[in-house]
Amino acid sequence: MLMLMNNQQGERKCYNQRMGKIKILPENVANKIAAGEVVERPASVVKELVENSLDAQVSQIKVEVESGGIKKILVIDDGTGMDKEDIQKCFLRHGTSKIFQEEDLLSIKSLGFRGEALSSIAAVSKMKIKSKVEKETAGTLLELEAGETKKISSAGMPTGTSIEVSDLFFNVPARRKFLKSSPTEFRHIIDIITTHSLACENIGFVLKHNGKLVFSLEKNLSREEKIKELLGEEVFRNLLAVFFSHPHLKIEGFVSKPSLTAQASYKQFTFVNKRGVKDRVIAAAVKEAYGTLLPAKTYPIFFLYLTLPYEMVDVNVHPRKEEVKFVNSQFIFQSVKAAVSQALVRGDLTPSLQRVTRGPTRLGQVRPPKPRDYNKERAVVGEKELEKELKFYKELLPWEEELKVRVAEEILQVHNLYLIKPTEEGILIVDQHAAHERILYEKLIESFKSEKKENISQALLLPLTVELSFSEAEILRENLKTLTRLGFEIEEFGRNSFKINSVPNILKAHDIVSLITEVIEDLGQERPPKEVDEKSLRTIVFLACRSAIKAGDPLSKEECRDLLEKLEETKTKYTCPHGRPVKVIISLAELQKMFKRT
Ligand code: ADP
Ligand code: MG
Repeated sequence: MLMLMNNQQGERKCYNQRMGKIKILPENVANKIAAGEVVERPASVVKELVENSLDAQVSQIKVEVESGGIKKILVIDDGTGMDKEDIQKCFLRHGTSKIFQEEDLLSIKSLGFRGEALSSIAAVSKMKIKSKVEKETAGTLLELEAGETKKISSAGMPTGTSIEVSDLFFNVPARRKFLKSSPTEFRHIIDIITTHSLACENIGFVLKHNGKLVFSLEKNLSREEKIKELLGEEVFRNLLAVFFSHPHLKIEGFVSKPSLTAQASYKQFTFVNKRGVKDRVIAAAVKEAYGTLLPAKTYPIFFLYLTLPYEMVDVNVHPRKEEVKFVNSQFIFQSVKAAVSQALVRGDLTPSLQRVTRGPTRLGQVRPPKPRDYNKERAVVGEKELEKELKFYKELLPWEEELKVRVAEEILQVHNLYLIKPTEEGILIVDQHAAHERILYEKLIESFKSEKKENISQALLLPLTVELSFSEAEILRENLKTLTRLGFEIEEFGRNSFKINSVPNILKAHDIVSLITEVIEDLGQERPPKEVDEKSLRTIVFLACRSAIKAGDPLSKEECRDLLEKLEETKTKYTCPHGRPVKVIISLAELQKMFKRT
């Protein structure tokens, strides 16, 4: 009887002695092939080594790399370590201490479980594994080259593990050729460490490149403190807290205010049971929650931590364990969308004018700032500052009370573009077009949803006729239902001609014929995905935009006041339907800073 294949060389040889064409590849070749999937670049080595450390109950991980990790990667931890026997097994294919049987795959709690990282990395590099468990007095050092043991000796060291990987892909020239420059490879390593340090709690991280300290994160930093250190002040300042709880799912974390977005998805962090993953379902749910708050072609920044029963998520779907599969992805989608929507509704979305230095945070030791109560902070600080400011102004201007009343009513229109109004907190600046667009958009959405149509539509004294091309007529027919729901009454009138009898109230003062033609043009542009719902929404966004007060339109005092009042009544008063900001507030504190009064 044929023996089943396993990873012991002896059995493989026996198998290969048989007749026939099929050979079982030797272990070193199999490992090299697996390395192709597991080890893409130096950052993948860092990922696997750091994950092993995290699985070994560490409190501190040091990562030192040279030349973007191409020359050398060293990961040192203070975890449980390996004894002499385990060290000699850890680099064998499928050698793992994390799962034992098939059923264990159903509820994986550790980051590793496939037992193929060390064997894959060893196959394509020169490796030194040094480790000691607590009960041993000395540790063991194992030196490997292309997966072959070169030397084993004892080594004096504290409890823990240190793994050094040098000359990555020295024996796979084709792969080595595809590596990017040292700074690019190092950037990938930073991304990996950023994700891991955000994923875990109570673990310190140190990163050095070419002998220089890049950052050192203390172990007791909170999530927000880590975000501040790793992604910068600006991201930190624009976070809105997310919280969602269900018996089978907890979602925590942060999303960015819509005014701060990224041009790519690299600032989107998803953690599922403390594992950093890329997940399209979650990214799509977040995007949907933002809806029209988001400018086109931009990506919201988010840090979402999902906790759910291990059985409800399959982590064994990707060789580098970068993706997961949810048993019920619809439930995850809806919950994430709800959680993010709530955060956006609760949050203050006014963009802040505060300027902060961008780019990498300062080097060296990071001390934990005072613990923050994220939800309370804004209100408390705001009140105190305001009190201080009011006192300051009182001393400066004895007639301040009178002034306050007088200025509160004054709205200034500047350059026929912006409305400026002093408020208690500072100065409010509103984009007149964006504000009106938002007001009309919400009105149109309301009437689109409501069943009663009599109030939203206005009959034209003289019906208008539009003549369209074949394809335009087709588009209009396709979208007639949406337009009717919005208050249009349009009927076919001979070949490709249509009669418009009524229009939505808010459009009565407009050039209806050209408006309809433009709507049709807009709807005719192929923009996937082409869902009916999305089309209606697009029609509404379009109508709101075209019907709104333009930039450049002069407004009377009453019109200015009316606009600001109506804006306050809208649900989302911070961005226009295209996602551009509607209003900005410059606080007194910011003004004082500008004039160097503080
Ligand atoms: P996996 O993590 O999937 O189990 P690996 O090839 O990454 O497989 O590692 C093999 C085994 O080596 C692990 O299961 C673990 O027992 C041991 N090991 C690796 N790195 C460490 C470490 N830093 N500390 C303690 N044990 C380790
Ligand atoms: Mg591992």
